[in-house]
Order: sequence, then C-alpha cells, then structure tokens
Amino acid sequence: MSVFSISWETAVKETSKNRLRVMLSSGHEKHHPKMEYQLDWIGTYSDQPERIDLILSALKDLSGVDLMMKEVGEQTFWEVLESVHTPDYLKALRLLSEAARDEDEYFYPVVHPRRLYNTGLQISQIIGYYSIDNFAPIGKDTYGAALEAARTAYACAEEMAANPETPVYALVRPPGHHAGRDYMGGYCYLNNAAIAARRLVEMGRVAILDVDYHHGNGTQEIFWHDADVLYVSIHGDPDQEYPLYSGRIEEKGGELAHGFNINFPLPGGTKRDEYLQVLDKALEAIITFQPRYLVISLGVDTYKNDPTGEFLLEQADFGAIGRRLAKTGLPLLILQEGGYDLLETGKLVAELLINACG
Ligand SMILES: [Zn+2]
Repeated sequence: MSVFSISWETAVKETSKNRLRVMLSSGHEKHHPKMEYQLDWIGTYSDQPERIDLILSALKDLSGVDLMMKEVGEQTFWEVLESVHTPDYLKALRLLSEAARDEDEYFYPVVHPRRLYNTGLQISQIIGYYSIDNFAPIGKDTYGAALEAARTAYACAEEMAANPETPVYALVRPPGHHAGRDYMGGYCYLNNAAIAARRLVEMGRVAILDVDYHHGNGTQEIFWHDADVLYVSIHGDPDQEYPLYSGRIEEKGGELAHGFNINFPLPGGTKRDEYLQVLDKALEAIITFQPRYLVISLGVDTYKNDPTGEFLLEQADFGAIGRRLAKTGLPLLILQEGGYDLLETGKLVAELLINACG
C-alpha cells in the first residue's frame, strides 16, 4: 500500500502561468517485485513503490503544483500504444501477468529463445523471448501497472497539446526508457516517453532529452528511423554501465534519420561542471532541431549517493538542470524514469521541477 494518498476531489484543476501540472499513475504499488540479481549479486529490487510516495510527498510541500487526473479516449490511446509496441509483445505482457497465481509470484526469465523459434512457447520461455535481461520480472499486476503508467504518459501528452504554456510532469512507475518495441528490461515494460512523444509528434517535431544515468536503449531503438523525433541522451559510459550494449557516440540514427540520435556517454565520477557543459551542448542540439515540444526522461540516479549510478551530482545541481530546461522556452513534458536513493529522490525531483517551471 502507498504510504501517502491524495484526495483527488480537492486537487486543483485550473492551471496558470508557472504552475506545474502533475499526473500520477495509479495502481503502481501493486507491481512490487522483491528481488533482483546480477552476475555476482542478489538483492532488493531497486524500483520500489516507495520511490513514488517520496516524490509525491516532496511535491506536496511545494506551492504551485496542481495534481490532475485526465480521462483519455481508449481507442486513440491504443492506437498510439500499438504504434510504439508490437501487438504480440503487448499480448505476451498480458498473458504473463495473467499466469501469475498470486501477488507474490513473479516470473523471471531463465532462457532466452532465439528469435527464429517464436511459436509454441510456454510461459517460462515467453518471458525470456521478450526480455533483454532479468530486471523486469512479471507479476499479477505488472501489466496493469505498466498500462496505467503508459496511459498517464499519454494523458500528459494530451494535456500538453491542449495547453503547452506550463510544464506537465508524469509521475509514473514502472519507468519506460529501457523498454523497446517488443521487449522489456531494466525495470521497464512500456516506453512511457515514446508513447508521449508519439502522441505529440502528430502536432510537430519532438525532442526527447534523456537525463537518466542509464542510456535509454528502448527509446533510441523506437525512434532510430524517425527524423521527426530527436533523441538526445546523457548517461554513464555503456562500457561500464547498464545497458552495456547501447549508448555510444557512434550510434547516430538509421539511414533516414542519421544525426537525429545523439549520445553523450560520460565517465563515472562526473561532477556538476562537466555535466552542465555537456547538458548545454545537448540543449544546443535540441534548439537547433527546432522542436515544437521537449520531452524529458527524468532519472535522478545521477545523484552522488544513488546506488545504481556513479556520477556525483549534488541536490543543487538538479536545480541548475531545471533552470536550463526552463531557459529553452520549449513546452516541457517531464516523465519520471529512475532514481533509487530512497532518502533523497523526492527532494531531487522537486528541486529540478520547481526550477523547470521558471
Ligand atoms: Zn536509470
């Protein structure tokens, strides 16, 4: 259960200049895998529901924050969802969740069947077929929680389209940027940022800036051939860091969209000055692209104490990032990705958001 709840009836629904609109994906807490494992390590699953409670609690202390809910048309939502993810992958997610017997059962991939042999797979093989790693186990409520996060991202895009004057923040879990067109991985199942961008690109070019510590391999892949969506990522060097196989400078986009994918890998130990210099370069590329909207994949696992990252950003540095985003003058749709330091995550997100509001 969530440790903090909000009375939606009392949520302010009007928006005005310099206010932040926030939407929360409901039911995320029902998705709560307990364990993750790496080559030589087994421990607590990093993407805990408390992360969202902490962020919500920090936002509650700010003024000028409007919590909102927005109904979206199911048909148009599914059209966008199925333009980002393949129908067979969505079906596999649903089947796997349905196969879990109770809320404590989570399936982890054991085998990864080669893509040639994709018929007649049993549950134990389906999860491996659609996974790039073992960090995205599936339980009874995983599909529902992922779908709700995707729906919230979509609702935020609709809200942004209707009123681009002030930033919109999607407080969603599970995160999305490691999920590709037909695979899960890295705590991600559906690519929330891609779903929001796909909706917004109907109205004009979209830039996605991914500031999570880990490269957004899924988002890069989804827009690899799309010259209407610029993907820019600043992240830990994949020679050392997850996802290990993507995020290098040479990855610049497919033939028809060459130059529309820009990676800035940085070494462990990166601090404020080096980080902000690179952020300025990234924003310069975004401004040159002249997007109508800027989508931010916001991970705060770049913080110095984050257990999953090796950068050394301080709390005040997140304010500096927020101010630079505000300075672009672009409509901002900010989606939550990672950030796993359970003491500080809420404060870091709040620091960035309040500064991003200008
Ligand atoms: Zn991350």
